[in-house]
Order: sequence, then C-alpha cells, then structure tokens
Amino acid sequence: MNNTDAVLWIAIFLIFIVWYVLVMVQSYLSYGTAYRWAKGGGDNGLALVGWLLVFGAASLIPGLGLYFWFKYRHLNDSLGICVRCGNKLPSIGQFCNYCGSKFR
Ligand SMILES: [Zn+2]
Repeated sequence: MNNTDAVLWIAIFLIFIVWYVLVMVQSYLSYGTAYRWAKGGGDNGLALVGWLLVFGAASLIPGLGLYFWFKYRHLNDSLGICVRCGNKLPSIGQFCNYCGSKFR
C-alpha cells in the first residue's frame, strides 16, 4: 500500500464516519417525525410502524432525515405533542415528561 492509497482509505473512512453519525442522529429524529405523522392521523399503532419504516429508511440518506424532521417538527403543535419525541406534553410544567425537552 503506497501513500496515495493510505490517504484515499483515510478519506473513505472519514466520510463513512460522518455518514454514520448523521444516520444515527437522523434515525433518532425520525422516531419523533414518525410519531408526529402517526398521531396526526389519530393514534394508530400500525401507522406508527409504517412511518417508522419510512422515516427510518429516509434517515439513511444524509440530509433527508434532517429535512423531514425540520419540515414536520411543528406538525402537531396544536395537539400539544412534544416537538422532539412526539409524546403528549404535560399540561403543567415546562419540560416534556418523556425526553425532557423544554417546550415553554
Ligand atoms: Zn419529548
């Protein structure tokens, strides 16, 4: 293996790490997006699994998962759904009971 090869492999490795981290972040966010989509159509376990698959697959593409999360993060604001995790917000206090995110 010569120097050029080494640089190439390091570059590929770094790109892979960046991609992997993005996918991890996006798959985490995709749970929230899937929850918001499922709850928007009423509480439906089957719909939730379906949306988890859809947004889970989307999170494999860097940027796409973040895009969906950003676009739909306020989808159910009027329903009192947590922006980050998609669970129902408590009527008192300022933090989500499930993920601790501040909502007031
Ligand atoms: Zn939450």
